[in-house]
Amino acid sequence: MSSQSTSASGDARIRREQYHEADVVVVGAGIFGCAIAYALADQGRSVLLLERWMTEPNRIVGELLQPGGIAALKQLGLGHCVDGIDAIPCKGYNVIFNHIPSLIPYPTIDDDGNVIYAWGGQGKEGKRPEGRSFHHGRFIMQLRRACLAHENITVVETEVIKTLRGEYTDQILGVETRTKDPETGAKKPDYFFGQLTIIADGYKSVFRKETIGDKKPIVKSKFYALELIDTTLPQQNYGHVVIGKNTFPTLLYQIGTHETRALFDVPTGIPAASPAAGGVRNYIKNVAIPALPPSVRPAALKALEDGKIPPSMPNSWLPPTKQIPNGLILLGDAFNMRHPLTGGGMTVAFNDALLLSRLLDPSKVPNFEDSKAIRAAVNVFYWRRKNITSIVNVLAQALYTLFAADDRQLHALQLGCFEYFQRGMTDGPCGLLGGIIQRPAVLAYHFFSVAFLSLWLNALAICAGPLGIFKAPLALIDAVLILWKASCVFLPLVWREGFQ
Ligand SMILES: Cc1cc2nc3c(=O)[nH]c(=O)nc-3n(C[C@H](O)[C@H](O)[C@H](O)COP(=O)(O)OP(=O)(O)OC[C@H]3O[C@@H](n4cnc5c(N)ncnc54)[C@H](O)[C@@H]3O)c2cc1C
Repeated sequence: MSSQSTSASGDARIRREQYHEADVVVVGAGIFGCAIAYALADQGRSVLLLERWMTEPNRIVGELLQPGGIAALKQLGLGHCVDGIDAIPCKGYNVIFNHIPSLIPYPTIDDDGNVIYAWGGQGKEGKRPEGRSFHHGRFIMQLRRACLAHENITVVETEVIKTLRGEYTDQILGVETRTKDPETGAKKPDYFFGQLTIIADGYKSVFRKETIGDKKPIVKSKFYALELIDTTLPQQNYGHVVIGKNTFPTLLYQIGTHETRALFDVPTGIPAASPAAGGVRNYIKNVAIPALPPSVRPAALKALEDGKIPPSMPNSWLPPTKQIPNGLILLGDAFNMRHPLTGGGMTVAFNDALLLSRLLDPSKVPNFEDSKAIRAAVNVFYWRRKNITSIVNVLAQALYTLFAADDRQLHALQLGCFEYFQRGMTDGPCGLLGGIIQRPAVLAYHFFSVAFLSLWLNALAICAGPLGIFKAPLALIDAVLILWKASCVFLPLVWREGFQ
């Protein structure tokens, strides 16, 4: 590095530390905040990263990173953050439906990283990408350490309370915060200024309303979490999705040498988890745990023994909304969420950070004060990100609807989906789920293939009974209803996530 650029970065550091001024202020050192701060800093931008709690978070979210997220993490220069945290390699999924497993490994890829059997079938041998599962807090601390070590980033522990606007314009100039005095514990006001402010304050964002209006996340269920100690999953190094006859999906994945996470989906207001029925604990104990593989049940029951209601998080869907930035961009979960069934949130966040940083590269946007250039970049970002986000988000919402089926047609689609996997049609679906396939048409193809298989299986089941072929008209009516239901599930999601 030349002495000129060393002194420029030294000056920028002084401006950050003494005057609280930078090219960009990033709010929230979570998954997205760390990633975008690091990416922009690597391009030579001066970055202030503000986080309210710098201690290691203890959360039940963001514990499995899909291969598509790992690839983006590496391209961001943060690939090492999954090292040294006792992370477990993940080779794909084991979907257990009514105690019958279907193994869905991540697909084989060619030398350019393309999935070989994206449209059908299953590669037998060859290179396969991997995901990683881990303790969320350990991973976050690795990301934060990388930011702390970057010469162009200053990380400050402070709680952002509001944005600052120009006196005569609507332009956002930075943020007002409250910083704790380490000696007295008293909180004092602080101010941080950036040509651009990026807010990534997570699912409960307090800046959402100001930025994208009254858009509220839709929450239909919660995940309740247990940490199972020294349990054995039926398939080592695979994430597990378990669906019993009368249960909603449960996720199982190993997050450390001795720890396995169990996440039980409990839809809002279901009678089986009502206080009269003994509440959520009873539902988990008496309904959800018996549907788990036998090797896992003892550890799950033991984890429930403390008598407490397990920690929970809402499972939200928040489709993206177009922003016209006035010095401020809202991103990460604050801007766009999907059901965590498919573990896609971090993959979206890292791909978003990668794409946005490329669009904001100094060769394209030399100065963040150029609001016209920022708006143009954010507009391109909004549409281009859909190549991956529309897949991850639509798949998460559609699969959840199928896996938590609550009517006849959805049950038929659910059966069709498992039969599809059983017939070896796994590389395409798992490539989509893993964030490796970035072609939305492949998702549409597989979804409607499942729908047609479902109506065929349903017709065979109807005609197999007494009166056989004479019930064909009934099967035909059912076929129309199933296809209609599949379209009602899929097409509005595609429209909202892909075209709006
Ligand atoms: C139950 C559940 C399980 C999930 N499992 C997975 C999974 O396995 N794989 C996956 O990829 N995704 C998963 N997700 C989604 C994933 O966790 C999120 O998509 C991801 O964490 C979003 O990152 P973010 O940076 O937007 O928010 P966060 O990671 O939540 O970061 C927000 C940060 O902002 C800080 N902050 C908030 N307010 C302020 C403020 N006022 N001032 C300063 N700092 C502030 C917070 O302290 C936090 O550090 C799951 C989600 C849920 C609900």
